Amino acid sequence: MTARFFDPLLRAELSELRAYEPHAGTFEVRLDANESPPLLSPEASAALAQAMIPAQLNRYPDPRAVALRAAIADSCGASPDEVLVGTGSDEIIALLLTALDRPRDRAPAASIVTPSPTFVMYRLSARARGFKVVEVPLDDAWDLDARGMARAIEFARPNLVFVATPNNPTSTRVSLDRLRTVIESAPDALVVVDEAYVDFAGPGAEAQLALRQAYPNVAVMRTLSKVGFAALRVGWIVGPAELVREIDKTRQPYNLAVPSQQGATFALRELGGEIARMRDVVVAERARLAAGLTALGFEVTPSKANFLWIACARPASEVVSALAARGVLVKSFHASGGRLLHRMRITVGLPGENDRLLHEIAACR
Ligand SMILES: *Cc1c(COP(=O)(O)O)cnc(C)c1O
Repeated sequence: MTARFFDPLLRAELSELRAYEPHAGTFEVRLDANESPPLLSPEASAALAQAMIPAQLNRYPDPRAVALRAAIADSCGASPDEVLVGTGSDEIIALLLTALDRPRDRAPAASIVTPSPTFVMYRLSARARGFKVVEVPLDDAWDLDARGMARAIEFARPNLVFVATPNNPTSTRVSLDRLRTVIESAPDALVVVDEAYVDFAGPGAEAQLALRQAYPNVAVMRTLSKVGFAALRVGWIVGPAELVREIDKTRQPYNLAVPSQQGATFALRELGGEIARMRDVVVAERARLAAGLTALGFEVTPSKANFLWIACARPASEVVSALAARGVLVKSFHASGGRLLHRMRITVGLPGENDRLLHEIAACR
């Protein structure tokens, strides 16, 4: 490639990265991005749309997002000054990495430790900021390898440790005792417990919030994206107030648009019943879809999220391409190679979409 004037200006790590691009094209059934199916009632949709309308289009949004942070704080028993809101958890991840980026001792760069496989944005966002990324494979049950994590933490001395539970793409929750071991082995790092799928995880989730009380180095991240409101782009983290205050300095003052702030506040304050109802539909469909896929010979990992992690006999890339040709989009993880070669992730959709998936995939085995 011919040299371009900006090549010497670019951060070196960008040459190894590719922009995160969801699959392009139109598909009759899209079960690739872990979004909620459209289950919101027409009445709730109308009320939400009304609540999102800005009172004054000429004015900036509230830079402190006071109403939204109060609603979030009330939803989890925190205080508003422990809450940082972002344009999705994606922005929260970026803000954490921007603020907590000082290299340790004589290390050339700051680092993060994550299990693998997990949510790609930890790695992408970290590499884009020059962090070193240390990945520790999950065990055979897709649970944390607590000793491996502890060793990696001791060796890498990371600034941040990211653990998603339930985890994407494996759909599994990590064991609480192993998570505790990881937290205790990283007393001088921030451990981010990413609960994007906590609504689908069943009882026991409170225990993860309680970790915050037990350990000063824990922050809990959540989002509205997976429970039916991905369009709003609202995520948050709950952590120590002093830390939130520092990270807040790296946030753009008007990062959350008025419709997002007002819509998220309304959803949290008024739509709890709707969210619970939508979750119940997804959880029931999850069981039905898992049973259908198992009957077709796929290995299905018991899911605590709104998607299924499955293994197929053929390479996943072939199954996913064949499905796409039939109008159904799911996500393959073959590109990671190794034990993921035959793995794919299927988001739970509407009952009709799940039926269609089962029908088409039967022909793609
Ligand atoms: C989808 C997902 C998120 C959500 O990110 P948003 O930016 O809030 O949409 C966060 N963490 C994990 C593990 C996810 O899978």
